[in-house]
Amino acid sequence: MKTKEEKTLVIVKPDGIQRSLIGEIIKRYERVGLKLAALKMVVSTEELIEKHYSSDSNWRIKNGEKSIKSYRDKGLKPPTEDPMEMSGITLEKLKKYMSSGPVICMVWQGAHAVEIVRKITGGTEPLTSDVGTIRGDFVLDSYQISDTDGRAVRNLIHASGSIEEANKEIALWFSKEETLCYSLVQEKILYDINLDGILE
Ligand code: GDP
Ligand code: MG
Repeated sequence: MKTKEEKTLVIVKPDGIQRSLIGEIIKRYERVGLKLAALKMVVSTEELIEKHYSSDSNWRIKNGEKSIKSYRDKGLKPPTEDPMEMSGITLEKLKKYMSSGPVICMVWQGAHAVEIVRKITGGTEPLTSDVGTIRGDFVLDSYQISDTDGRAVRNLIHASGSIEEANKEIALWFSKEETLCYSLVQEKILYDINLDGILE
């Protein structure tokens, strides 16, 4: 596969729709030069959300460790010291959150699509997401507040964490026919080796 054909899955979560940020979010990925390969609005079931987060067999451990570390980095005591228990609690909350209303699912394609989308999206916890990222600019939630209130961190977006994760997730949310193959005029200026044919 050519690098410029790399694909990643983005989901605008129910809070993104309710906060009228669909256009703002799409704009951020569009303006960097990525190509929209698929788009649809759906209401998910809890079963689909469970499958989605189980598609990476390491997600449970990585997610639990990340949350516990984030508490420790702030000098706070995590709700549990066991990463699997931590992510198990989070998964139950996520099933409710992600199926609470419509979501927008998108496939974005282009060079380094997975990494570029994660960079623009920002870190998981809005409290520490960088300014200039979508999560850093539009949300003020934290692990501490959301865990205390017994809900998932509301951070507007899901974005695949790796190429492997992206391929599995895209297959879960979209049929083959729903992902479109087409050229964008701007791909010439983004990827062509010789910029000939510009001057007349
Ligand atoms: P992401 O790849 O940045 O979305 O992060 P993860 O895959 O680790 O977690 C999935 C989603 O679960 C996040 O986007 C948050 O909405 C939520 N979440 C993750 N960790 C926690 C946590 O420790 N507490 C709570 N309340 N929610 C969490
Ligand atoms: Mg993730």
